[in-house]
Amino acid sequence: MNDFTNCPQLYKYRAIDLLPEPPSIDAERGKLIHSVLEDIFELPAADRTFESAVDLLPESWSAQLEKTPELNALVLDEKEWMDRAQALLTNYFSLENPTTFEPTYRELHLERNISDEVYLHGYVDRLDIAPTGEVRIVDYKTGKSPKPGWEDKALFQLRVYALLYWQNHGVLPRMLKLIYLGDVKTIESQPTEAQLTSTEKKLNNIGSEILTAIETGHFPTRKSKLCDWCFFKAICPAHVK
Ligand code: SF4
Repeated sequence: MNDFTNCPQLYKYRAIDLLPEPPSIDAERGKLIHSVLEDIFELPAADRTFESAVDLLPESWSAQLEKTPELNALVLDEKEWMDRAQALLTNYFSLENPTTFEPTYRELHLERNISDEVYLHGYVDRLDIAPTGEVRIVDYKTGKSPKPGWEDKALFQLRVYALLYWQNHGVLPRMLKLIYLGDVKTIESQPTEAQLTSTEKKLNNIGSEILTAIETGHFPTRKSKLCDWCFFKAICPAHVK
């Protein structure tokens, strides 16, 4: 849905044509950190220390390399790569202390047909249910936090998860938390019923636009700063004359 909102043509390349893309170094770094932050909670609470997290890095990295061997060509300086990963873990431990709480779910799969034509699903990095029943949805980002004024856009993904959880379980999550390891910041928001209803409306509107694009075969290009990071720029009609 984000792809379609950013550029319908990009959505077409990815979701309709299923064109392959090379791995992105930033996305792969994110996967490595996510895997460590998932595994750390397998340990007893008292053992979830920074040192344990760093110990988990080599094993997670080997598994990732096995799954995506192209990374061998992408990560040329392995020491620098691991140092950077370690720095992100340092940042995580300055924002949260995982010895003090129990997560209820990690990589929780949420799904729902939000209309007859739109099926939605996603994976929540972490969902914590307090002994008092309050639900907190947490998402880790290895990049930097958004500039002031862009927080709402950043929270959209978590509002979608909150909507799915609310509809599936009848419990309105109490807190949405984005953890930015890149610049050691968090964004927290207490979702309201009105916000989630408006998120649902927005999702249905985007869903309708996608269906119309599929029916008409019209996926307009939308030039923006994102084009500089778009792998398909070399074949995109907006850039190839
Ligand atoms: S290069 Fe830009 S306009 Fe073209 S598909 Fe990618 S994001 Fe869209």
